[in-house]
Order: sequence, then structure tokens, then C-alpha cells
Amino acid sequence: MVASTPATVHLDLLAPLSGVMFPLEAVPDPVFARKLVGDGVSIDPTSSELLAPMAGTVTQLHPAHHAIALTSEAGVEILLHIGLDTVALKGEGFTAKVALGDRVAAGQVLIAFDPELLGRKARCLLTQMVIPDGARVAALHPATGLVVAGSTLALRLDLREPAAAAAAAGGSTAQSGIVIQPEGSGLHARPAAMLAAAAKAFTSVISLARGGSEANAKSVVALLGLGVQAGDALTVKATGADAREAVAALAGLLGAGCGDRPGQAPAPAGEPAPRGAASGPGELAGVPASPGLAAGRVFQYRPEAPAVVETGQDPAREQTFLEAALQDAGLQIESIKARVRASADPARVEILSAHQELLADPELKAAAGAGITAGQSAAFAWRAAFSGCAARLDGLESALLRERANDVRDVGRRVLTLLTGATAAGLEPPRDSILIAESLTPSEAAQLDRTKVLGLCTTTGGPTGHVAILARALGIPAIVGIDQAALAIPGQALVVLDGSRGILRRDLSEAALAEARSRIEQQSVVRVQEREAAQKPAVTRDGVALEVAANIRSAQEAREAVAAGAQGIGLLRSEFLFLNRETPPTEDEQAAEYGAVARILGPGRKLVIRTLDVGGDKPLAYLPLPPEANPFLGLRGVRVSLERPDLFRTQLRAILRAAPLGDLHIMFPMVSTLEELLAAKAILGEEALALGRSAKVGVMIEVPSAVLIADALAREVDFFSIGTNDLTQYCMAMDRGHPRLARQADALHPAVLQLIGLTVASAHRHGRWVGVCGGLASDLLALPALLGLGVDELSVSVPAIGGIKARLARLDQAACAPLAQELLQMSTAADVRARLATLAE
Ligand code: PEP
Ligand code: MG
Repeated sequence: MVASTPATVHLDLLAPLSGVMFPLEAVPDPVFARKLVGDGVSIDPTSSELLAPMAGTVTQLHPAHHAIALTSEAGVEILLHIGLDTVALKGEGFTAKVALGDRVAAGQVLIAFDPELLGRKARCLLTQMVIPDGARVAALHPATGLVVAGSTLALRLDLREPAAAAAAAGGSTAQSGIVIQPEGSGLHARPAAMLAAAAKAFTSVISLARGGSEANAKSVVALLGLGVQAGDALTVKATGADAREAVAALAGLLGAGCGDRPGQAPAPAGEPAPRGAASGPGELAGVPASPGLAAGRVFQYRPEAPAVVETGQDPAREQTFLEAALQDAGLQIESIKARVRASADPARVEILSAHQELLADPELKAAAGAGITAGQSAAFAWRAAFSGCAARLDGLESALLRERANDVRDVGRRVLTLLTGATAAGLEPPRDSILIAESLTPSEAAQLDRTKVLGLCTTTGGPTGHVAILARALGIPAIVGIDQAALAIPGQALVVLDGSRGILRRDLSEAALAEARSRIEQQSVVRVQEREAAQKPAVTRDGVALEVAANIRSAQEAREAVAAGAQGIGLLRSEFLFLNRETPPTEDEQAAEYGAVARILGPGRKLVIRTLDVGGDKPLAYLPLPPEANPFLGLRGVRVSLERPDLFRTQLRAILRAAPLGDLHIMFPMVSTLEELLAAKAILGEEALALGRSAKVGVMIEVPSAVLIADALAREVDFFSIGTNDLTQYCMAMDRGHPRLARQADALHPAVLQLIGLTVASAHRHGRWVGVCGGLASDLLALPALLGLGVDELSVSVPAIGGIKARLARLDQAACAPLAQELLQMSTAADVRARLATLAE
């Protein structure tokens, strides 16, 4: 049904089902909601036969018959997907009424389904109609409300002619000046994914050049393959209608490090974690990856590679198989993500998101497509594509980039398993296992059951790899890069794994085993004590009550924090709602998240929401800021909000909407002058008045100037929260993520302690409470110093809550106050640490 006006060519799509139109963005599956498959609509169905929305040819029919694609005569492909996660039904409840290659008329039945069975077994019946090739569509006009299958117009597309689509990507050409990759870890997976996502927002063809090499900027894989490291000179090039905008935005993003906060890099480049040293024949050494001691029986894990035939059938069919497998792999990852999200593990969710990005990677798909066109089977061509890419990453200089090869292999094997129909080798260790493997893919690691796996070691990988990150997140002691001899230890052998020292001990004597067991016992006693303390109020031995709150990023983490004993939330880092997306969150989206956190906490627990803290080291794709020579001294924190009052006002309104639900506090980050605070408060005042809402107001103390005018700031606010991470770097003039300086930028330096002491004194002079929400608050060693300096609240990482409360209960404020004065007189961080170590238990 192609209609046309003089200006535009339309494609009209009839409703494929009767039901209620539903916006794609609201579908509870990010693969569709984030439009990874394409833009379109969703329908909540009341009928049970999927009809062709237009005349065309069946160009895809998924073997599970839950999804089908039609291509119109004009070459526009429409994908129809019945329900969510329905691939898992493997065809049960679906009857295909057409075959691949059939020509169909508009309104013809394509697939019949059993709504009763699907209602019971599928997650959701929402059915999606999407257009995978966005370049062909100039605009979409969806219907709303009720639609009738085969007769209501559900979606009108304004089409670009193929030539115009090509032209849209081929207009003008632009090129950036030289951008220097900032200090940090280079363009590894996270920043590469952010750059590729930002590039995809433009229609132009965009590339990133380094030396003589150039890569497609929309492809994570291609970007990783460039092997960009800190200090490299880069150029962004674009050709197309929005070439100039694309170059400006991406150069800005690159200059600011693409969201990579060097401080977050697990281990500084060039300083590999030291290997453990084996002290006898019974010991094998590796790199400590996750601390703790475990004793158990060896479980050797060896997954088998699926068999693959080289020659394919018809290339169009093979391409269809590949597309279907990629889509199913996306759904599998999505369902693992849902499980992982339930266990509140942002590190694992981030890894899985990176894997979804790899599935959509244009370079990987193009490499596999070329193999298929040359007559290879989808499985063979795909294996060659991902193995080649992983091998290229293996050959790069940066250890961090080399480790991303494991991610490419992981995603690659997942798709390969789907293509070959092989079942994934079961990773089902028995109870009390010490798992030994050559490597674990991140998704294998993500599925580890910590009630069965007491410890794990791999012969490959490093401390920055995903296996290490996930083991730490799961609290499983782990060693990576262990001696190959570990692979020869027989299954069931008794071993002791020391994840803190990177040592695996075998051939143990009875006495050694007993000694290890008693140390493990002591560790678990400490953990039990911490768990008990976590549920009690935070009171010192001499009866001084503090508040131990938590630093969180989401409603999910709020639940974790409350369960772990947090008395409130001292820092909700709201920027996490704004990162890794192409448009800012709407007021409603934000209000929903803030409201959810407030409801979880209830009126009895304080909630401090920090307004957007981005810019400089934390760039946003949709907020291009000019490249800055010193981003940490540039547009950061509240300065960005004052530059972009539109974003700021939206956020303030969303926060204020949550005010009636709890004890709400709004906190401005990176305030360095009184003028900034007054300007921010004025905007807040206007929004609060308009909404008839109010909230308590505070500032973060993160800049020495704020400390020195703390009396003036205190008159304007209800509370202070000291961000020791930034306060330290600005006090010491040492970048908090600098690979060589970060260790000296020590928050226990007496200069930083002086600033904390001055802040507390100013706050208390004005009857304001003062908290610490930087990393120092979670540090057990620092606790007597902070208690002695008189802080009222500690906002700590969720896992630290129990330990901090337990130690507080063993400390006397009366003894810590003179201790703090003693520390303030010292000249070096080493002296402070040495003195505090004398109190360590
Ligand atoms: C800080 O600087 O200490 C702080 C808590 O803020 P962030 O780490 O998010 O910059
Ligand atoms: Mg900060």
C-alpha cells in the first residue's frame, strides 16, 4: 500500500492484530524499547491471527514461528514479533500459515497463535511491528487507541527513496581537528560503546582515524580494533547531512574521555597486579582477582566447541538464520539481565549491555554477511567473523583492550550455539566446588551459583577482566592467570584457594587443611557479626549515635541498601539515570525512579538526591560540551546545570514530585562559590513554588573554596555532605584517576583532614549536620578519624554498611576526638595511616 503526495512517498501499514496501540518505548523489553531492532509500534492484542500489514514477500520466518518479516515491493522490510520472550516456546502455540519466500496480500493471515497458551506461558503478549532499516523512513505516524486487524491504519511511514536515503548519509563532509585521547585506559569497551551509541544518533557515515588506520565509529568492534590508548591523536570524519554536528559532538565526547572515569579503571595501566609467589611444589600461583579464602573440591570445566559445516544453503536463508540467531541471543541476554538486575549487580548488567551492543555491531555483521554471500553457512561465516575480531583484539598492546576479546568470543559463541542448535555445555558444578577452567566467558561467570562455587580460578585473564569483576561482585574468592598445571589437578581433589594472595594449594596435609578451615571459619564469624551490626542503629561504645547511610544509583540499589541496614540514603547519584542513553530522561521517567526510591525508604529514612553531576569527566552523548583542556576544572556538576537550566528544571521538578513520599533532600554537587549556590537555589525556589512542594537543600563540599566559605554556605543550606574523592584531588592537585598519582591523592592526608575538620566546625556553628559521602566514609581505617572530627553521618557503599556499624560499636568518640587533633598535627598521609594502624583490630 504505497500512497504518494507530490512531496512524500508513504507506506501505509494496516493493523496486523486487533487491540490497543502501545508506544514502542513503553514495551518492557529494552531490545524493542531502545529501538535496537528498529522503530515502530506495539499492539496489545485482542485477536489471535497475525495479518500481513501490507502486500509483500516473506523474507524472514523464525523457526519458532513467533516472528516474521515481510518486504514490500519498494524494498521496505517490516518485522512482526508476537509477544516477548516467546522464542523460548520453541514454536509451541504458533502455527505459520505462510512459508519463507511466499508472496502475500495485505490482510492475509501470516501466523495463528493460541492466546490462552501464550497468556499462560509468555511473559507478555505485546506484539511489535518495526522497521529495521531506519534510513528508509523519514517519519512515522502511528495510530493510537483501538485498532481492528486488517482494516485500521496502524502506522503510516513517510519513506525516503533509496537514493534519498543514501543521500541522507552522503551530503557534506566534515573533519575534526586533532583530539588527544585523555589520560585513562584508552578507548576500551565502555567508552567505545558510548562513542558508537552517540555516532548512531547521526545519519552521516562517521569514522574515527588514528594514524593511518580508520574505523567505523558506529561499530564498537571496529573502534576497539583501532587500539586507541591514552595520548593518541585522533580525528573524527563524517560524510552526510548532519556531518558537522556529528563531528562536533563526537570530538567533544572523545576529548572528555567518553564517559570513562579513569578512577574507575580497576587497575592502572602498566601496573599489573602482582602475581602470588608459590612457596612450594604444592602451591600454584596466579594473579589475585577476588579476595578471600576457600577450601573445596576441584571441578574442572571444559566447554565443548559446537560442530560447524562450512558450506551454506541459499545465502538469503543463511542470512535469515543469522539474523534470527542474533535476535534470539539479544533476548537471551535480556533475560539474563533481568535475573542479574534482581540481584542488584550493576557491574554485571553493564557487561551484558556491552554484549547487546556487540550483537548489533555493523562490522561483525558485515564480516559474517560477506562470508554468507561467498557461500558459507551462517555458523561458519559468523564464527570466522567473531574469531577474527577477537584475534585482532588479542594482538593489541593494551591489556585492557586484549581482555575485551573474551567478550567478543562470549557473544560469538552464544550466537554460534543458537545457529548450530547445540545446547550450551552445562556449567553445573556440585556443592563446595573450586572451579578451574582455562577461561570463563562473562555470561558463564554471570551464571555462577555462589552457593555451589566456593572459589574459582582461570589460567587466562587479568584482574581487569570480567571474570575478576564478576567474582568480586559475587564475593567468590578468585585467581586469574593461574599456572597451567591447575588444569591437570584431578576432579574432586581437595584444594585451598587464597584469592587475596593469588595462591592455590593442593596436596594438603590434614593439619594445613584444618588450619585453612579454621581461618575460613573466622572470616565467616566476622561476616556474621557485620550482618548483625548492620541491622542495629549506629552507636559508638560511649553512646554517640551517628547515621550510617548508603550511596546508591537506583531504586534497585535502594532495596539492597535497606536490606543491608542503611539508615537512609546519603547520596543518590542521579547521573546514572542520564548516562548511556541518547536522550535525557523525561521528567516522568525521573519522577518514577525518584518516587520508587522514596517509597522503598519510607518516611522514616532520609533520602538525599544529588542533582546531575556530569560534565568534564562524565560526558553525556546528548549534552555536547566543548572539548576542555582540563575537564576536572571545567564545566562539571552544578556548573552544567546552571548552563543548561532546561535539564536542571526538569530534574528539580521530578525530584520535587517525590517530596511528599519521603524525607527528601536535594543536594548540589561541585559547588565552589556562593553565587553558584544562590543561582541553583533560586531556580529550585521557582520550581518548588510552582509545584507547591518543598525539600531540604544541601551542598556537597568537594572544592577547597567551598570549605573556606563554609560559614556563608551553611547560612543558605540545611546540610553539607563532604565528597572526599573530589575534595582530595582538588586539595592535592592530583587527578583522582591518574595512573601514577592516584595513590598519593590520599584522602587521609592531613591537609584533607584539615579541610574536613573546618567543614564540620562551620556546619556545627550554624546548627547544620554534616556527612561524608566520598570513599573515605567506607574505609574502616579512617573511621576513628572521621568520628573524632565530629561528622554526623557516613554515607557508604552498600557492602560496607555492616563493617562500619560493627566497628563504630567498638569505638569511643571521647577517645577519637583527641586522636583526630593529633592526626591534624601530622605532616604526611603515611604518618596518619601508621597512627590509625595502631588502632586496627
Ligand atoms: C566525591 O567526590 O567524593 C563524591 C562522592 O562524588 P563522586 O565520586 O560521584 O564525584
Ligand atoms: Mg564528586
